[in-house]
Amino acid sequence: MVTIQNYVRVKNLEEAYTLNQKKGSMILGGMLWTKMQDRTIQTAIDLCELGLDRIDENADAFFIGAMVSLREIELHEGLYAYTQGAVRDALKDIVGVQFRNLATVGGSIWGRFGFSDVLTMFLAMDTYVELFQGGIIPLQEFAEKKPDRDVLVRLIVKKTPGVYAYASVRNQRTDFPVLACAAANVSGTYRISVGARPGKAICITDEEGFLTDGITEERAKQFAKWVETKIPTAGNHRGSAAYRTRLTGALCYRLTKKIGEEQA
Ligand SMILES: Cc1cc2nc3c(=O)[nH]c(=O)nc-3n(C[C@H](O)[C@H](O)[C@H](O)COP(=O)(O)OP(=O)(O)OC[C@H]3O[C@@H](n4cnc5c(N)ncnc54)[C@H](O)[C@@H]3O)c2cc1C
Repeated sequence: MVTIQNYVRVKNLEEAYTLNQKKGSMILGGMLWTKMQDRTIQTAIDLCELGLDRIDENADAFFIGAMVSLREIELHEGLYAYTQGAVRDALKDIVGVQFRNLATVGGSIWGRFGFSDVLTMFLAMDTYVELFQGGIIPLQEFAEKKPDRDVLVRLIVKKTPGVYAYASVRNQRTDFPVLACAAANVSGTYRISVGARPGKAICITDEEGFLTDGITEERAKQFAKWVETKIPTAGNHRGSAAYRTRLTGALCYRLTKKIGEEQA
């Protein structure tokens, strides 16, 4: 059970950051992960009055506030069109609609959870994280950093021309993924992001140029085999390392073919 001693609805980000420097303080997202823990929070910091529950877009980027729910992202027409439905595919199996109405993108990205469909998908895109103190940094760099006491303000997804596809394997439809995979061609560079390995998602690019001359059956197979060798996996009660490596190749192959069809 979580016990909260003080609850503060902050008036600005500076107040949130200052309060969060104290040991025992905690920023609240949707609290769905936090409420599973057994702990006392001295000061719970609620960002709900800061207008961070909005997705804005201009010609160059989407700006997704930290308090935007996963459901809002799933239903956002602009993100749907930009990713050819891949973002919706990534989020639709996370527990259920009521859950996704509460879970926030801020909590999901901040947590850097190994099983995260959210991190896996956004890593495949040209995504940046805006931190109150740390400024704007690539999501890849943020994912590799150890959690500190900064405040995640928003995600910025650049509208770099891209083609995307997403798939996960789950033992049961709403369970955590056994493996999650996002494929992309972002501005001519092919990327594969693999999460639930079960470690945190890793994104690699086609540095050997398997797909440089276009996607064919044979090249998709070769690329998938190469990706299998590049992505470390491990075993847990959901699946063995060997099974996850096979899934990595299978999903990579299927998603690469899907991208090829989309491009054709
Ligand atoms: C039972 C269960 C099943 C799940 N299944 C999946 C799944 O299959 N796939 C998947 O991708 N995810 C899954 N999740 C994770 C879920 O989607 C959310 O990512 C998770 O609940 C965190 O989001 P939240 O809004 O609840 O964050 P919270 O629990 O409120 O916060 C999580 C952490 O982030 C910090 N935080 C929150 N917002 C900020 C901010 N703006 N700045 C700095 N720190 C912040 C909090 O202090 C806390 O440390 C699951 C979670 C649960 C509980």
